[in-house]
Amino acid sequence: MSLNVHGRFAPSPTGLLHVGSARTAMIAWLSARSAGGRFTLRIEDLDPPRMVPGLAKEIARDLAWLGIDFDASPAVGGPHAPYRQSERHAHYEAALKALHVAGRLFPCRVSRRDLRNLASAPHAADHGPPYPAHLRPAALDTDWFDTTKDAAIRFRVPDRTVTFEDRVRGPQSENTAAVVGDFVLRRRDGLFAYQLAVVVDDLQMGITEVVRGDDLLSSTARQILLIEALRGTPLRYAHVPLVLSASGEKLSKRDQAATLRALREAGVRPEVLIGYLAHSLGLIPVPEPHRLSDLVPIFGWSRLRGMAPWRLPVNLVHSLRYPLAAGCG
Ligand code: GLU
Repeated sequence: MSLNVHGRFAPSPTGLLHVGSARTAMIAWLSARSAGGRFTLRIEDLDPPRMVPGLAKEIARDLAWLGIDFDASPAVGGPHAPYRQSERHAHYEAALKALHVAGRLFPCRVSRRDLRNLASAPHAADHGPPYPAHLRPAALDTDWFDTTKDAAIRFRVPDRTVTFEDRVRGPQSENTAAVVGDFVLRRRDGLFAYQLAVVVDDLQMGITEVVRGDDLLSSTARQILLIEALRGTPLRYAHVPLVLSASGEKLSKRDQAATLRALREAGVRPEVLIGYLAHSLGLIPVPEPHRLSDLVPIFGWSRLRGMAPWRLPVNLVHSLRYPLAAGCG
């Protein structure tokens, strides 16, 4: 048991919570609570045009319905309030300034399209081709940080390998300089990048462990480099497999039938969904109804190590109405 463990769930309010994100939230909560730790809800509404009004409240309601409680959140407050990224810009600005003072930043006016045209090899990653170090400006005005307008701000990535242990995926390593290169911390239009905001918030809020979907595994080395540059303590990471639709595609926020709201409206009880999800994780042998709190003594990361993506059944509601008959296949 460690009272120092502090986990978080950090949804972006761009769509309703679906069973995939609910499963991730449940694992994050179980990990913190089974260690006697704290748990925080942070709303990642950095990019205002993509946010749907009212959704953050609905997500909080869905999480409460599942039995996930928080020591700190936009609703209950907490020692590091505010817990909405849209209200935390001053913190991101201050961190950017600290990185500038440490000599880790430079302004950039190269567009994504220019970078793509520069790339010689095809690339499949979320971040496009690596930013070539030879494009870094050779010299900068001493006051560039305060005077430069209309430019993105990039972080100088050191040419070395970052390693970390993922609690689900095992040992990881990446030379971020070769894979991503110097990455953007503030976009040309002034918007702070996810990578910066998430690191600043995790550090300031005293988060010790990150549990999230494995679509963010490829962001982790970048975040570790930022944590180091901000002189923070490294966190523990767990990237859990996504939930796939019955046809094997990544479940998106558009899959309305798999949203918690749709399930609730179809009469599904939270204990039934919890039991079903717990069974999908191998935490219980049969998909019987459970309260989330019943799973705290059962939870352990060793059970989740190496787990595969999970495909939803064709008729989710039917499976949840008759979980024992349908199984979880
Ligand atoms: N806000 C991100 C998302 O909803 C998650 C960020 C994180 O957990 O680091 O995908």
